[in-house]
Amino acid sequence: MAESKLDDALTAACGDMWINSRILSDVTYLCDEFGNRFAGSGSEWRARAFILDKLKEYGLSNIQAEPCTYTAWKRGTCSLELLAPRKRQLTCVSMVHAPGTPPAGLEAEVISVGQGTQAEFDALGGAVAGKIAMCTLGSPVGIPPLHRVGKYGRAKAAGAIAVIFPTEEPMQLIGTGTVAAAYKEIGTIPAVGISHETWRYLLRQQELGPLRVRLDVINAFAPNTQTWNLYGDIPGDGSTDDYILIGGHWDGHELADAALDNALGLFTALDAARAMSSRLKGKLKRTLRFVALGNEESWCVGSTNYVDQHASDLDKLAIMINVDALSRYSNPQLRLGKRPDVADFCRKLITEHKLPIPMMASEWLPGSSDDWPFLVSGVPAVTLTGLERSAAAQALGRGIDHTHADTVDKIDDTRARISAMTLAQFLVRLANAPGRPEKLARAEMFKRLEAAGHKKELSDQGRWHPDSVLGK
Ligand SMILES: [Zn+2]
Repeated sequence: MAESKLDDALTAACGDMWINSRILSDVTYLCDEFGNRFAGSGSEWRARAFILDKLKEYGLSNIQAEPCTYTAWKRGTCSLELLAPRKRQLTCVSMVHAPGTPPAGLEAEVISVGQGTQAEFDALGGAVAGKIAMCTLGSPVGIPPLHRVGKYGRAKAAGAIAVIFPTEEPMQLIGTGTVAAAYKEIGTIPAVGISHETWRYLLRQQELGPLRVRLDVINAFAPNTQTWNLYGDIPGDGSTDDYILIGGHWDGHELADAALDNALGLFTALDAARAMSSRLKGKLKRTLRFVALGNEESWCVGSTNYVDQHASDLDKLAIMINVDALSRYSNPQLRLGKRPDVADFCRKLITEHKLPIPMMASEWLPGSSDDWPFLVSGVPAVTLTGLERSAAAQALGRGIDHTHADTVDKIDDTRARISAMTLAQFLVRLANAPGRPEKLARAEMFKRLEAAGHKKELSDQGRWHPDSVLGK
């Protein structure tokens, strides 16, 4: 397609997204009608049909629902009682993929380990063994956020028998999240979340004497549960087999509606697909594949399986764009993995076409979202995020993600429309770019991660698997 005609089509598509955006109405319907889409739930099953209908309605071709199996987790009951120095029943929720306590419950001393950094565990020496470690979900200011699974791994290594994860943000938010290291694994010691206020109460009691608690948790596991990657294409002009994968997870945590994490990111991308499909079908060099990835929240089940199921032709995947967090807190930014060549490629496109996409200098360890399985398999992978917040806000934790407060009313509709248009602009330029970053070997990617100093953290998280993306 001639450059001027392409610009006209893109201009029309952007106008369509600005005026006729379906993002807010789709996310509202999805969350209000089906709920949180927690992996293994009826909500997830019903939402699947809705998403497949949208792929069709929005004009995509080659629509597929590719199954993947994993061990699902069912929330049971959870009780935390302070026994000393005062007695009080406290409110808590179990972390996802955490096992229950023994049938008779668990009574033990609680030891505070700050934010669960290695230095904080080291400072306590052997004092954590046999106790319940309490470390907040926040991170020291100014460093990339520490993931809860790394803290959980360090607690286990120090001999803790359970973990309490306080949320650092106030207003009685309780964060949930998986403690599984990989999607075929489950947690090995109980772990519960409590609010900022309950945490502060416990810190005050600790000044009176050692904290002793009773924990009773019942959860269940369901092996061989199925989820799906749902996708559809805007076919290219046939001049190459290469394609671009634009993906975001469609599942969510079950304490809330998971509106921002990640119905919003996914439907921002699908609105770009809607506006582009009729205008650009068969006209771009590379095919654009829009994917709703299954069960990211229990450790990237869908994206891990996509990489595995498409292993024989991964070299055709020119670039993977993860849209987890797109439109969430800020306009889009590009977050890059450990690939200077991918950074250079994107910078050139952004500069040449004057795209309004700031690139983040990334010390971020990409690992807890769907770009990870692609990145470690050597596929060029980036994240287009709306996660920019002040360093102080970021240090407190995830904001409202994974809490009861992640609801549709938090969506900024203007920002969502801007994000969809920005994504579409980026996609058109990526699809027609003259070259592309190469696919690297998996061993090379792990070598780079080690050279960049990430082996320890990934090992703490149980995700240093150079030989297998499946975490076996
Ligand atoms: Zn997410």
